[in-house]
Amino acid sequence: MTIKKVAVIGSGIMGSGIAQVAAQAGYDVVMIDLKQEFIDRGINIIKESLGKFTKKKKITQDDADEIVARIHTSTNMKDAVGDVDYVIEAVFERANVKLPIFEQLEEACPERVIFASNTSGIPVSLLSSATKRPDKVIGLHFINPVPVMRSIETIKTLVTSEETLKITLDFAASLGKKTVVVKDSPGFVVNRISAIVINEGAKLLEEGLATLEDIDELMRLSLNWPMGPFQLADLVGIDVSVDLLEQIYQQTGWERYKPTPLLKRMREVGHIGRKSGKGFYEWA
Ligand code: NAD
Repeated sequence: MTIKKVAVIGSGIMGSGIAQVAAQAGYDVVMIDLKQEFIDRGINIIKESLGKFTKKKKITQDDADEIVARIHTSTNMKDAVGDVDYVIEAVFERANVKLPIFEQLEEACPERVIFASNTSGIPVSLLSSATKRPDKVIGLHFINPVPVMRSIETIKTLVTSEETLKITLDFAASLGKKTVVVKDSPGFVVNRISAIVINEGAKLLEEGLATLEDIDELMRLSLNWPMGPFQLADLVGIDVSVDLLEQIYQQTGWERYKPTPLLKRMREVGHIGRKSGKGFYEWA
């Protein structure tokens, strides 16, 4: 199967990044969200990211313009996905938001189309159960920021077919990403670890062990991490982190994944990280 056109559902941090890397690799893209203002915000994120590449002379302004021109947009998912070859879902990390999307995709897309989810921790098997093509459903966990990070965690369920896996691995490679295939398990691999880092960091802060700046610095300098737990939380989004922790906690009952109250309070007041201008840090 040849992939020419890709649909990306959701134009937030991840959806916009995924749309960008797909367009950079030469695919026609349609990026879909609920409202035009969300799409405009996504296109701005893409333009900003491409601006950084042009500044560093990694691509020309003409290249950047061509990439943006390959990204079409829509607020009507059913109409927009009728002629696509591959779908990547990147909406909120809630099963009750994702499941209806898979149901609608089932109705709107030809039978050959593969559905990938960028979920951080919802079982891909659960999402596949909303379709009549569970063998064509797979997890494709891109890492934030998508245009920069080099890996994708690929999640194969018990019923994902070998053909779906092969097409997906070829597609991921065409985006210039390295893939690792993992089993469909709560939080997969990357988030089993990163969710703990964020939750434990917040617990240390609640306990008053040190300031957040000191904890971040200590982890950067001691373990050679590019960022500490609070910088990571602000990048990922406190809302996304709490959703993820809750997902893993609900599926496993493991206390260490129970979101610490500080993270929940921050989400309630909208201090959700870089995207809101304030999280653990202030962001311009
Ligand atoms: P986000 O909040 O930035 O964006 C989500 C977007 O989905 C919003 O623009 C929203 O309007 C849109 N949306 C919601 N319901 C929709 C619907 N029915 N149809 C179309 N669009 C809809 O979230 P994000 O950080 O981009 O996360 C998206 C997914 O990617 C989640 O599953 C998340 O767990 C996963 N993920 C996030 C990160 C991260 O670091 N933020 C990393 C890897 C994976």
